[in-house]
Parts: sequence; C-alpha cells; structure tokens
Amino acid sequence: MRETIALEMTVSTMPGIVVAALLTLTLALGVAGWVLFKRLRLPDRAFAALGVLGGAGAFFGAFYLLRLPLDQGLQSLLRGYPAWLRFGATFYAPLTEEAAKWVLLIPFLLLGKIKREHQAAWAICLGFGFGMGEIVFLAQRIAADPSTLTLPWYQSSGFIIERLMVCVIHSALVLLAIDALCSRKLWRLLLPLVIHWLLNFPIYLSTRVPLDAAGIVWGQLLWMWSSLFFVSALILLGQRLLTPSERIAALLGKAICPECHTLYVRPWWGVNRIGKRYERCPQCKHYHWTTLYREDSEP
Ligand SMILES: [Zn+2]
Repeated sequence: MRETIALEMTVSTMPGIVVAALLTLTLALGVAGWVLFKRLRLPDRAFAALGVLGGAGAFFGAFYLLRLPLDQGLQSLLRGYPAWLRFGATFYAPLTEEAAKWVLLIPFLLLGKIKREHQAAWAICLGFGFGMGEIVFLAQRIAADPSTLTLPWYQSSGFIIERLMVCVIHSALVLLAIDALCSRKLWRLLLPLVIHWLLNFPIYLSTRVPLDAAGIVWGQLLWMWSSLFFVSALILLGQRLLTPSERIAALLGKAICPECHTLYVRPWWGVNRIGKRYERCPQCKHYHWTTLYREDSEP
C-alpha cells in the first residue's frame, strides 16, 4: 500500500512527457518482446534482445556520429544559401537513420541469424529498438523545454500514438533493407531511403507553404500522410510475420464447433449477428451459430 502511494507520488511529480515516454517504451518493448518470444527460436532470442538494444544505440549513433557532422558539413558548404540548406536538411533523417540501420544489420547477417522465415521478426526487434532510442531522445528534447514540464502525461497522447506508429514504420524499413541485403540487390537499399524521405518531406512543405494561420490543415494532411505509411508498414510486416491462416485468424478469429468441438480458423463466408456468427465448420461441414473463441476462455 505504502509502496503504491509512493509510486503514485513519484508518477504525479514526474513531468508528463516522462510518464508518456515510459508508457510508450513499455508498450514498444511489449510488442518487440512478444514477437521475440513468439517468433524466434530459443538460441536466437538473446541475439534479438541485443538487436533491440543495438537498435536504440543505432538511433543515437545516427544522430551524433552521422547527422551532426553532416549538418556541420552542409552548413559550411551552403553558407549564404539558407533555402538550399533547409531543403538539404530534409535528407538528414533518411540518410543517417537508414545508414545506421544497415550498419546494425551487418553483424546479425554475418552471424547468419536473420533467416528467411524470421526476417519480419528480426525487422520488428531492430526497428522497435531503433524507435525506442528515438523515443528517449525526443522525450529528452521535449523535457528540455520548461513550459512542457507542467503538462499532464495525457496531453502527450499524440506523442504516444505517433511514436508507436513510427516504431512500426522503422520496422518495415528495416525489413526492406534486409530484403535488399539478403537478395544482394544493393540498389534496393535506396527504397527505404526514398520512402523515409517521402514520409518526412511534407513536414518541410508545411513550413514552406502554410495553408492556414493555425496550421490545422497541414496538421490533418500530415496525420493522413503518416497514417498511410503506417498502414502500409503494418500490412507488409503482417504479411511476412503471419502465415495465411494466421492472417485470417488475426482478422476473423477462431471458433469451436458446437457439434464436433473442433477449434478452427473462421472461414471468410458467414452471417454475422452481434456476438455470433453463422458459419460452416471445416471438420464436420455443418453450419452452426458460433461465438468467437478466446485463448483465455474455457473451451
Ligand atoms: Zn464441426
């Protein structure tokens, strides 16, 4: 009890952004951990956990070892051309972050850890790790602004959702890089670079071409644009992570036949009523009304 109160006191005195970042990190770690345990073989799990940590490190490496020197170089090169410098800055994140992911991938590929059937699981471990590094980095930056420190954590719900979406997008970009490296078609490494740039470019546009004074239109457009990338990333990862029947099960769920008691993946065809579905059992071939089977419910 006393510990609960102490914890609540600590949480309530923490800046909202710190609470939001911890919450986001917990959720991201949960996803990466779930994939690691469900999709990777026991001998690979410790390496994948290193991959999550390495991913977080790769983000900081990309920023301090690549991005800052690149920025300094471009600043001195384009002195007197501020418009070109601003445009050039749109290439920082794609170039440095994707390059850092390639460097991160090399040891795991050389060790022969990233096998064909587990590529999506590896991409999620490394991509979520990378995204978690970014969460820590951004939370630090936000917390450095004293005006944000009094905001309650739920004011940062946008941060939580956006960061989790970015973790998924990072993972899909890692998967594209894995595909390029494993197929030895290195030109395909350009694909994640271009996609990353396309994802970020409208942010630059929104600062150059304001559409309304409050920036609401751009806010909505940017949200839709990033959602498009998020959904595409989710589809790509889902396709590669799940077998066809798992994909249908993820969408429609499973049911137990009331007649022959077979647990089956629900078929595409069926009549839906709230809480129930009229469908054909693949085992006894008879039609029944069934309810969704839950892993934790008694059969
Ligand atoms: Zn049946």
